[in-house]
Amino acid sequence: MADSTDSDRPDLPAGDFSAWLRATRIALAGEGDAHVPCGTCTACCTSSQFVHLAPDETDTLARIPRALLFPAPGLPPGHRVLGYDEQGRCPMLVDGACSIYDHRPRTCRTYDCRVFPAAGIVPDEPTKVAIADRARRWRFDHPTPRDRAEHDAVRAAATSLEVHPELAADGLLPADTTGRAVAAVALSDLFSDLEEGDEPSVTLVREALVERRRRV
Ligand code: SF4
Repeated sequence: MADSTDSDRPDLPAGDFSAWLRATRIALAGEGDAHVPCGTCTACCTSSQFVHLAPDETDTLARIPRALLFPAPGLPPGHRVLGYDEQGRCPMLVDGACSIYDHRPRTCRTYDCRVFPAAGIVPDEPTKVAIADRARRWRFDHPTPRDRAEHDAVRAAATSLEVHPELAADGLLPADTTGRAVAAVALSDLFSDLEEGDEPSVTLVREALVERRRRV
């Protein structure tokens, strides 16, 4: 488990930004796993997070005691969430490691805290201190102008989502920092190759968010 004071520890290499972005979009589309060099860090498993499980995750669902699963709020019947204990730990974390690692939920397979430095967002929820410390340490490389431009586009998308609270009020944006960072990654193409000071209309951003929600 990462402790809450590791912000003074060495930087962590996050890889080339464009390669990370391609891989992350594949993972978020459910077409692959995120390959995160977690080491011994289990911050995301110990930060009071509800883990969503979709009905088609039958192999995983069969390995989790029924008593630990609850209906997922706002989602159709069959969607579940796995909760956490009084210390904020996932109950499947045993002796500092995931006890169902090879069969872990899709949410865990696609979770990547590098999404925060990608979007320029620091998770500020009180329960995410360990994740925030880890996220602060990642450093992306930008070996080509494309790496820099794509990173700038993700950050511009995050800023745009931040300054248009009406999108959150419409229920199109998750209120939590993870959801906003992931949305910035998903929408960043709208912010690519623009003239300086230019940005897509709120209508265009809204349409992209509606389409994204339709696919979830
Ligand atoms: S299921 Fe495993 S990987 Fe997912 S939060 Fe729990 S312990 Fe962590």
